[in-house]
Amino acid sequence: MFFLFGLTTREHLQSTRSASCRYCGVFAPQQLIQRRTKLSVFFIPLLTVKKTRLQACTNCGGTSRLSGMEERSLAH
Ligand SMILES: [Zn+2]
Repeated sequence: MFFLFGLTTREHLQSTRSASCRYCGVFAPQQLIQRRTKLSVFFIPLLTVKKTRLQACTNCGGTSRLSGMEERSLAH
C-alpha cells in the first residue's frame, strides 16, 4: 500500500492599504496576502502546515514577509 503526499500552497488577498513601500519608497497600494501551505494526502488538503503573511507592493512588485508585530499594527 502506498500513500500520495503533497504540499499545496494557496494565496489569498486579504486587504489593500496605501503605504510607502520599503523597496521603491513610493506611496502606493500595498496588498496584504495570506499564504497557507497545506499537507495533502491523495490531493485532499488535510492540515495547514505553514501560515505566512506577505505584503506586496503594486508599484514595484516587491514582497516582504510580515512579522507578528507588523500584523498587529495593521489591525488598527
Ligand atoms: Zn514598491
